[in-house]
Amino acid sequence: MSASEKDRLDGAFLIDSHAHLELEPLVNEPEAVVDRASRAGVAAIITVGIDLEDVQIALSIAERFSKVFASVGFHPHNAKDAGHNALERMAQLAGHPKVVAYGEIGLDFYRNLSPQSVQKAVFADQLSLAKSLGKPVVIHLRSAYEEGLTMIEKAAPFPAGGVIHCFSGDGHDAMRALEMGFHISIPGTITYKNNNKLREIAADLPPDAILLETDCPFLSPDPLRGKTNEPANIVYTAKRVAEVRGTSVKEIAETTTRNAIRLFGLPGDTVGG
Ligand SMILES: [Zn+2]
Ligand SMILES: [Zn+2]
Repeated sequence: MSASEKDRLDGAFLIDSHAHLELEPLVNEPEAVVDRASRAGVAAIITVGIDLEDVQIALSIAERFSKVFASVGFHPHNAKDAGHNALERMAQLAGHPKVVAYGEIGLDFYRNLSPQSVQKAVFADQLSLAKSLGKPVVIHLRSAYEEGLTMIEKAAPFPAGGVIHCFSGDGHDAMRALEMGFHISIPGTITYKNNNKLREIAADLPPDAILLETDCPFLSPDPLRGKTNEPANIVYTAKRVAEVRGTSVKEIAETTTRNAIRLFGLPGDTVGG
């Protein structure tokens, strides 16, 4: 993160709509990570807890830093741990004052760390839970867009809205998500040389539907690919989204920050207003 990158924001702010500050190695130095984010112009970070233990750590970090908020839920990898009692406990934790969304929930048929039938059952349960909690829902889909979107369509409408995080679907998948009022969150992979597909989708999205995320510590954008990712790096993603949309980084920052504040109901003073 150089000074010139921040200058490009020209007084605007960015929001990292999906981070994992509670995971190694970021969890070892949350103060430094949040401080570097602040200096890079990041006004808020949503840290996403993925099982009961991980959520406790996410919440403790959110309690420590005013600009860190949390989202909680059983990641599809952890669906096998989401029995009835565990889901009830997760629902209680979702009542924490810094929890602004439910998720990430969904299907991951790429890694299949929980059996697919279990992933589907737990996803359906958590879609209903998110609705009953009145929280926006954070969706994780990998190699499972057709099945996942069909399940979301069955459970729709979602009055509190939602987001398909780390979007990796095609244009038709994006359309289906937009029709349900979902946001599309663009990760650092948009900077990768071979990712014309995501650049084309990002170029065409309605401005009100776009969010930005790092998904750190994973998926560092170019030119940092392969290193540990962190919220400060979101500026590279913002820059690439601005380029493909033919607009300024400042404009993308303002638009996506407004979208994140609206979707997650973040406090009015998030951007210092
Ligand atoms: Zn995810
Ligand atoms: Zn995640």
